[in-house]
Amino acid sequence: MNAEPHVGFALELVQADALNRYHRLLGHRTRFQTGTDENALKNVLAADAAGVSPADLVDRYSKAFRELCTALNIQPDRFVRTTEPDHRAGAEWFWTRISKEDTYANDYQGLYCTGCEDFFLEKDLVDGRCPIHQREPVAVSEKNIFFRLSAYQKKIESLLETGRLRVLPETRRNEILSFVRSGLRDFSITRSAERARGWGIPVPGDDSQVIYVWLDALTNYLSGLGCHTGDEAASFWTGESNRIHVLGRDVWKFHAVYWPAFLLSAGLPLPDTILIHGFLTVDGRKISKSSGQAIDPFATIRHFGVDAVRYYLLRAIAPFDDGDFSSDRLNRLYHSDLANGLGNLVSRLTRICETSDYGKFDRQEKPTASEGFHEAFETFRYDKALTVLWEKIRSINRDIETCKPWVWLKAGEIDRLHPKCTEWLTGLHTIAHWVQPFLPDTGQAIVNALSGCRITSQAPLFPRLKAKSQ
Ligand SMILES: [Zn+2]
Repeated sequence: MNAEPHVGFALELVQADALNRYHRLLGHRTRFQTGTDENALKNVLAADAAGVSPADLVDRYSKAFRELCTALNIQPDRFVRTTEPDHRAGAEWFWTRISKEDTYANDYQGLYCTGCEDFFLEKDLVDGRCPIHQREPVAVSEKNIFFRLSAYQKKIESLLETGRLRVLPETRRNEILSFVRSGLRDFSITRSAERARGWGIPVPGDDSQVIYVWLDALTNYLSGLGCHTGDEAASFWTGESNRIHVLGRDVWKFHAVYWPAFLLSAGLPLPDTILIHGFLTVDGRKISKSSGQAIDPFATIRHFGVDAVRYYLLRAIAPFDDGDFSSDRLNRLYHSDLANGLGNLVSRLTRICETSDYGKFDRQEKPTASEGFHEAFETFRYDKALTVLWEKIRSINRDIETCKPWVWLKAGEIDRLHPKCTEWLTGLHTIAHWVQPFLPDTGQAIVNALSGCRITSQAPLFPRLKAKSQ
């Protein structure tokens, strides 16, 4: 990363966190890692421009990124900074595991985009510019160590075709497959230390080269588990497990092509599933740090609350498509779905229970989710899983309006009222339990409210907001 965190980062973090919390809720043993990739040459250039040292610059970015995690209630088990000595040891370990038969020295000339940290062929440029960064690549000529990616073409093609390496969505899988079929070329996995200005991880045994930043960054999945030290957590990668990557559509080449090839060469297990999310626009416009139009995620979280922002990112944005982040739409969803939907259900139901002296609710430890909920998770459709929960909220709210329990209460018909309350509380508890991966604080607060020896009226979970957010 080479920028202050924007709301685009929040999408990926929230998706991964919800997935992790869902599996934990099911009782699975999980490990969730994220981190900051800090060894890129572009950080050296950005530091120059800002008049600070690269180390200070990445400290600042990494800190801001961790603050975003905290603000979003993201709970990784490990946050890896690729400038940590421990990661460096892990990257060196991985380097030495790559088969010697797969590498060779080569004098190289190419067009290099520092934004991508990648070489381009003339034909892949658009009007002579990098299609992602819209800037002209620089001609680079140096001696590098190359990786024999071409040797892995058939293997990777077959992994993708058979689904042994599962890529979602399907459209991306097809895009990647056609990229692989068009021919994989060997590529450089080192950079000259001189051109990198000494920033990065030196190649073991050759100080004139640093490890290609993407090779270094990808190994964070292993270094964070202590694969190089034989830590117990290494089994999350090397043992019987389900390894899932969550990433943006601009970096699939590295995760779905390079990374599996490196792992095959190193004799290590491959990821099982690669989930590729789209890009966010803000109010219909591309997020860019120079334009200054990106919504400040911290201010948005302060205004709407963390669960409202998580709700928006997981419900209003289909996980694999590009989506738009708009304060107006967030404001509308906050009031329609959260304040008037879930929030209203909790306050009116707990109020009826308190006033009618309902007492204690006998809740099930693990309530059964409505049909379609787990099915939605199988295809990582968080938006659909939330739709299932919100249909249930709507149906209970509708039932309460139809039954008019306040009339029963007035007439003293408690034996009619309380069985209905039990039915509604059971539904609400099921919602609260399964909403926890998405809205952890809200889910927990409702579960707590239903757990005491007596149900009492609750303060609004989603109070009315004043007009403006930023
Ligand atoms: Zn680029």
